[in-house]
Amino acid sequence: MQGFFNGDFNWQSVTHMYKPNPEHEYDAIVIGGGIAGAAIVRALKNTSISNFLVIDEGAHPATGTSNHFAALCHPYIGRGASRLQRLTHLAFDEARVVWAKSWHQGGVFHLAKKGSPFDKEKLSEHLLSLGFNSGSAIALDKDQSVPIIGIRSAGTWFPEGGWVNLKKACEEELGHLQAHQVLWNTRISAIENIAKRWTVFDEKKQLLAKSKRIFFASSVGTKALVKTIGIDLPLKPVRGQLSTFQFSQEMPWAKNLPKVALSGKAYCLPPTTLSGKLYEWQVGSTYDEEVDDLNPWEASHDENREQLSEMLDVDVPEKDLMPTDAFVGIRCVAKDRLPMMGPVPGYPGIYILTALGSRGVMWSALASQMFTEHLACEMHQSAFLDARFFAGARLTAAGLTADLAGALSPARFFAGASNSKPIFPSGCLAK
Ligand SMILES: Cc1cc2nc3c(=O)[nH]c(=O)nc-3n(C[C@H](O)[C@H](O)[C@H](O)COP(=O)(O)OP(=O)(O)OC[C@H]3O[C@@H](n4cnc5c(N)ncnc54)[C@H](O)[C@@H]3O)c2cc1C
Repeated sequence: MQGFFNGDFNWQSVTHMYKPNPEHEYDAIVIGGGIAGAAIVRALKNTSISNFLVIDEGAHPATGTSNHFAALCHPYIGRGASRLQRLTHLAFDEARVVWAKSWHQGGVFHLAKKGSPFDKEKLSEHLLSLGFNSGSAIALDKDQSVPIIGIRSAGTWFPEGGWVNLKKACEEELGHLQAHQVLWNTRISAIENIAKRWTVFDEKKQLLAKSKRIFFASSVGTKALVKTIGIDLPLKPVRGQLSTFQFSQEMPWAKNLPKVALSGKAYCLPPTTLSGKLYEWQVGSTYDEEVDDLNPWEASHDENREQLSEMLDVDVPEKDLMPTDAFVGIRCVAKDRLPMMGPVPGYPGIYILTALGSRGVMWSALASQMFTEHLACEMHQSAFLDARFFAGARLTAAGLTADLAGALSPARFFAGASNSKPIFPSGCLAK
């Protein structure tokens, strides 16, 4: 994994080989130590489940796509109140709470589509109709944007938007677990149901551990793993590269630079000063479907330069932006581009959290809260809610309707999914 975040955590002391006792039965096994795994562990801790084991083939948390120090977060704005729009609105609020310790609130400016007419009044009305208040999402025309954003561009200003250091968030949740709760450097090759317990096997086909519950937080790796128990998920890899460029502010195009993060077709953080007039800038990201090559590509740097020119509406000559580093990661994406979170119908104790795509911050936070509610309900009922995802009273009140919860469930890809509608509060209480 290429990356520009090296962290300061000393992993040498925690990467020893802990050997679980195959006879011991865990309350939960979590496969994956990225932001999805961190979200699940948070839910387990919230429900006072401590007899769990996190397994990852990496040597420490966030060695996969979550080795990312600045993942942007703001609600999506579409034409109407689509499911994606409603879900991100809800998930954005959860993300600010769940990942508060790793949150950088610098505000995010979402650029209006280039070449389309910009009507500020209409956009303001639209934002209000979507449930934003006048301080949380603000339509700005070109003139109004200069003092706030630093550049002359129309769009939507999210003052509460920001970015999350995903690696730090993973370390917060997974870096302080007890030695018997984590197993690094271990690749899982298969799962089996033996005597009503889910059992995991390593690459040498050796039985490693067993549990009533397995959470698959293993990104694209989930596809091959769940296939071993007969579950077929429509997941695919999408390569992305974020470039770090150096440039001099003396360049004519660099007189006005953004003071906040910009998003749109691509995104960038505000540039930071290295020394004198020398600046550094993170710009991305490329989107290559069905590609899982982790090497940085020159072609992706070129693409990111072009994206920057388009965002700033100026011609930035290639030689002015010198690539000095890159973050390359593989996103996991489902057929319908929405994340997958929840239990798998017909497989009691099997849960999935993957397909976070380009919205790892928001989807992992929403999932963490949903799994917290779901597990609390399971504990209360002393039974698996394998066919249903329990939405919980607080999230329901916040706007998580049946159609939204259903749109996230892995059940949507299975025949008979209509029988797997989520359960709402009364479902748990009526034992
Ligand atoms: C260039 C780029 C830019 C992005 N920008 C943003 C952004 O601005 N905002 C945002 O919200 N999101 C962004 N994302 C998306 C975000 O990074 C991901 O959604 C998120 O990191 C995915 O987390 P994860 O835990 O699902 O996967 P990962 O972090 O990849 O974790 C999965 C873990 O599972 C482990 N694993 C897999 N298979 C096995 C196995 N068989 N045995 C043991 N372990 C296994 C892996 O080792 C890995 O550690 C970006 C992604 C890229 C690539």
